[in-house]
Amino acid sequence: MDERSELHAPARARGRLRVLYTAEEIRERTARLADEIRPHYEGKNPLLLGVLKGSFIFLADLARALAIPLEVDFVQLASYGDGTESSGFVRFIHDVERPLAGRHVLVVEDIVDTGTTLAFLLGTLASRQAASVRVVSLLDKPGRRVNQVQVDFAGFTVENLFVVGYGMDHAEAYRHLPDICALEEV
Ligand code: 5GP
Ligand code: MG
Repeated sequence: MDERSELHAPARARGRLRVLYTAEEIRERTARLADEIRPHYEGKNPLLLGVLKGSFIFLADLARALAIPLEVDFVQLASYGDGTESSGFVRFIHDVERPLAGRHVLVVEDIVDTGTTLAFLLGTLASRQAASVRVVSLLDKPGRRVNQVQVDFAGFTVENLFVVGYGMDHAEAYRHLPDICALEEV
């Protein structure tokens, strides 16, 4: 067993975590995504707009894989209610620091599920005169969509599973795992 797998050994011992994508698979997919995204932004100093908290690791890796001049900012959104489902009511906890007018914005999401969060964010960005707005999401669950939002670039398409690791949590746990795992029995 490799040393890092000790990180999630307790949960795995209870049969709750199943690795879907290894750190190596994520790295390879991110490099290919960056190759797909880069031509749209060369010479444009894009603003990578991370949606906290789940996208923080993906954004860090994607920014380095893009390897072009860019800037980074973050928003944090919350949907009212608990559990593993969005409630449908979304609000800002933290907004961007600088105006978006004239900027080429690339929204960086961890996962688009019902699309409720992204629909809210894109709705609010629409009034801010960005030069362009596109979306990259590490994971896409198209089967769960309630709001028909456009994901321009998607890393992996997943079934109706609850995933954790590589930045994504369940009740704030598991964000540090290097792999993307399905959390079963939640
Ligand atoms: P949506 O509004 O599209 O239903 O979901 C938005 C947010 O809910 C995602 O950006 C993500 O933060 C969280 N979310 C949705 N599905 C999952 C999942 O399977 N695992 C985790 N950890 N978070 C999820
Ligand atoms: Mg998110």
